[in-house]
Amino acid sequence: MPIVVGQVVVFKCPKCGKVETYTVRREDAEEAISFGASKIGFFHRNHIFLCGINSRGEPILRSVEVSNMRTICSNNRVYAKDFLVVCEKDAIGNQKIAVADINKKILDLRCYSDSVNRILSFFSKEIDSILAKYGSLECVITMIHKDFDMIKLNNGIALIKVDRREYSKKELGYIESIFREGLDKIVLLDKNKVDENVRRVYDLFIRYSWYFILLKLVFPKTPDSEMLSKVICFVEKKINMMPRQTDIENIRMLMEAENIIIKPLVKPQTLGMTKPIATLFNLTDITDLVNAILEAHRRDREITLKYLLGIISCEEIDNFIGFLRELEKHRLIELRGR
Ligand SMILES: [Zn+2]
Repeated sequence: MPIVVGQVVVFKCPKCGKVETYTVRREDAEEAISFGASKIGFFHRNHIFLCGINSRGEPILRSVEVSNMRTICSNNRVYAKDFLVVCEKDAIGNQKIAVADINKKILDLRCYSDSVNRILSFFSKEIDSILAKYGSLECVITMIHKDFDMIKLNNGIALIKVDRREYSKKELGYIESIFREGLDKIVLLDKNKVDENVRRVYDLFIRYSWYFILLKLVFPKTPDSEMLSKVICFVEKKINMMPRQTDIENIRMLMEAENIIIKPLVKPQTLGMTKPIATLFNLTDITDLVNAILEAHRRDREITLKYLLGIISCEEIDNFIGFLRELEKHRLIELRGR
């Protein structure tokens, strides 16, 4: 019998005896064609049970893994409490932030640069009670555990690993009250304008404001890892400064990069003469950039912001977007949505 999507199969873990009921997905059929069997995994307390569906549609057991969880999760479709764990072999950036999407049932660990085993254990153990307690609330920030803070915004939950806690529940509560009012409120708050309880933990307020922005603008779109790396690199460069309105606009732009087209409004040669403007933005070499625009123009093709972002290093993103905006201001290029 071939693989039937929607069919229910049962796996029993040889290590702990836990029984998993699984509904066959389209991915199983695709993976069985490529690898001979699909690559399913289930996280159980301290191990991952790997199993799959072979090309005859039969459930098979593969192995039980107790180490290298990050690699295991990046090579298999591992589920923790029905949430698909999204992971890369190496964490993106240096933050310790795990993001669960309640609607899509995804647990994104790509920006969690700490023990994957630890966060999976915590998540599997606590997610049901977290959802029962906070699931219907729109915006919450709280100490959820001795090692974890939680920011919940709409359908996203960010679990943040805490190394040292030099702030109180009350102080987090003040930050929460600001978050409730939304992004526009956050960016206007410099240290002199905030409540003294927030001023005491202003560093934390800044960092969590960035996380709040990620939770609002970035994670709900489940960006690919290439794009997520760029956004995180952009954020980490600024994570000690209060986000500004232009930062928010730039992050919005990054998230739309695939659909933003750069159109030259002047002869391509004229673009080559924008070096002085580039220098203003600390971009030392724009040759590749101009060549890419030139080539696209010559072939009468559209060139996207995403493509151009691939050419520059991620440290330059902020300056690069500033540069493009400046070119637009001088009517040298047009940035428009697809
Ligand atoms: Zn097990």
